[in-house]
Amino acid sequence: MPPAKPRAAGAGRSTAESPHGLAAPLQYIKGIGPQRAKLLAKLGLETVEDALFFLPARHEDRSRLTPFQGLRVGDLVTTTGTVAGISPPPRGRRGVPLRLTLRDSTGYLNGVWFNQPYLERVFKRGQRLIVHGKVQAPYRHSGALELHVKDYEIVEEADDETLHTGRLVPVYRLTQGLTARPMRGLMKRLVDGYADLVEEPLPEGLRARRRLAPLRAALKAGHFPQTDAEQATAHRRLAYDDFLLLQLGLAIRRHREGRQRGLAMNPPGELWRRLLGSLPYTLTRAQERIWREIRTDMAEPSPMNRLLQGDVGSGKTVVAALAMLAAIEAGYQAVMMAPTEILAEQHFMTLTGLLVPLGVPVALLTNNTKGKLRAGLLAGVAGGEIACVVGTHALVQEGVRFRRLGLAVVDEQHRFGVAQRATLRGKGESPDVLVMTATPIPRTLALTLYGDLDVSVLDELPPGRKPVITKARTEPARRGIYAFLREQVAAGRQVYVVCPLVEESEASDLRAATEMAQRLQREVFPDLRVGLLHGRMGFADKERTMREFKEGAIHLLVSTTVIEVGIDVPNASVMLIEHAERFGLSQLHQLRGRVGRGPWKSYCILLTAASSEDAKRRIAALEETNDGFRIAEADLELRGPGDFFGTRQSGLPEFRVADLLRDAPLLEEARQDAVALVQGDPSLVNPEHRALRAALLARWRGKLAMASVG
Ligand code: ADP
Ligand code: MG
Repeated sequence: MPPAKPRAAGAGRSTAESPHGLAAPLQYIKGIGPQRAKLLAKLGLETVEDALFFLPARHEDRSRLTPFQGLRVGDLVTTTGTVAGISPPPRGRRGVPLRLTLRDSTGYLNGVWFNQPYLERVFKRGQRLIVHGKVQAPYRHSGALELHVKDYEIVEEADDETLHTGRLVPVYRLTQGLTARPMRGLMKRLVDGYADLVEEPLPEGLRARRRLAPLRAALKAGHFPQTDAEQATAHRRLAYDDFLLLQLGLAIRRHREGRQRGLAMNPPGELWRRLLGSLPYTLTRAQERIWREIRTDMAEPSPMNRLLQGDVGSGKTVVAALAMLAAIEAGYQAVMMAPTEILAEQHFMTLTGLLVPLGVPVALLTNNTKGKLRAGLLAGVAGGEIACVVGTHALVQEGVRFRRLGLAVVDEQHRFGVAQRATLRGKGESPDVLVMTATPIPRTLALTLYGDLDVSVLDELPPGRKPVITKARTEPARRGIYAFLREQVAAGRQVYVVCPLVEESEASDLRAATEMAQRLQREVFPDLRVGLLHGRMGFADKERTMREFKEGAIHLLVSTTVIEVGIDVPNASVMLIEHAERFGLSQLHQLRGRVGRGPWKSYCILLTAASSEDAKRRIAALEETNDGFRIAEADLELRGPGDFFGTRQSGLPEFRVADLLRDAPLLEEARQDAVALVQGDPSLVNPEHRALRAALLARWRGKLAMASVG
């Protein structure tokens, strides 16, 4: 039964106060009640508005259910049949799935449900089910194909068949206790009763120009479309809104920052020219171009906010060093921050090599810098005598006071959030910020996460780099691999052996690496020198080991993933990665970037145990290409954006509908529109933007420091 038609909200009157409005708690909606409201809350749905924007995970075309005979292994399908038999998992045996035999007019199919033993009590012989899932080969000798069920529905005779079997049927995300049919019925009533209360946030002109459906129509068709085309149009509109609200927030922030006064640093350029003159190579064209962009930014009086993206080995460090010298010559201090101690130490060594010969001393500040040395350094930084500091993120943010900080270079952006950047900028004056990332971020993601940064891409590797020959191997190949390593060493090359990431614990990584090094030294290569490098070693030990490896005194270097970053030994031409299936795709790519730096043929051998589908795909992607951007894209696709960054990026609103990968072109349009809107009306005070502004504030929930009245 449809709910009583709510009164239309009067223009200009906030619906928030009206119990019939969009802000009404779902519990008070007819047919919901406290029990069901609790279940809906588990899905994150509290109000009518939440539910309206809870779009189906997908739509199912029920005019095209595949008969059992037409199923093929590997297909993702929706099909229907009658329950002919049930074999529940034995009591107390975990991990054994529930199996159902289904029958249709063409044959049999075994439906398989994992981890839901309670379903045994739900299914009955003779019931008709609609099931969706992936087709698998027959189990043992049962003969019939299997379907690993992702979702299912029990068809009731008394159902409103147009709602549940009409051509395109919405399939919602569910929770235990809330099944597909009641959920669909509920959503139908909410959409019918309330979609027309939703205000249109987009100005008419913009909506027309981008050919976007009106929001109300998009909500209706987003849930209950008549055709695929209608569904696509609705999705496009709703995804656009997600993107626009995100990009608007970022554009507003950026506009505000842009008006801040920053430092104009425009020295004659004697220092950086001397650095260029001292390098054993000339800059690539990409490095030249980006260095020019950075120089221009630095000379401007507004603060620079630039993201420098570049594949492993593309030469970001020297570009950063040039910028730091420009700041220093202009009379300011420069800092480089890294996410880990070891990376900070490596940057320190690199910068020392580049800057000290020019008469610019470099200081290192990490948790290992202690006592008098530390006090002296802090005093030097505060007094301005130390012009160049390298440190970890935490240290540089908390403890250190600068006299005249002009430039902050931040390495490894994805571990360094938007909020942290703001803290940094708040340190007294507004220093220029250059963010470097070694993880090539797909453009769509860069626009999302760093829509408030300018982006430079180092899209050219220094000359002479060769693609690394990458091969996946399994345990039986180990002896052959060792023989190959020996050959390479005999030919004068050196080898990295990277040890598995056992768990998120440094101690166990360390043990694995130590044991591997001992075994290789004693049992496999007693006549060669095997070295060990890991994160727990003191700075001096690490430095000595790296120096010995660089000088060729160590033939094989066993390490934990610390070498992921920074190490540069062109003579090392082979990398053996143990348990490669345990690494993420981008991480493997970073590791592999340590070889292929000299004139020799280089190899990366991925040793894998029997592994999951996912791991196989990661490794296949790596064998296929050396291009970091392609790999990042594949990684994003495999893992999804939340996971790609380790943890969900905090501080940004989540999307309701949009899919970063699928809807990427729309993101770019939304970004352009956001920039134009903010240029014309920076605080969205124009009456035409009233609804848009309200939607923006609601979406960012106070995270946009923007007055919420007016
Ligand atoms: P990344 O971008 O991964 O930080 P690095 O800055 O570590 O790369 O540079 C990788 C290596 O390439 C270093 O040994 C560096 O000296 C060298 N390099 C940088 N730029 C050039 C260039 N234009 N020509 C030749 N070698 C270069
Ligand atoms: Mg680097």
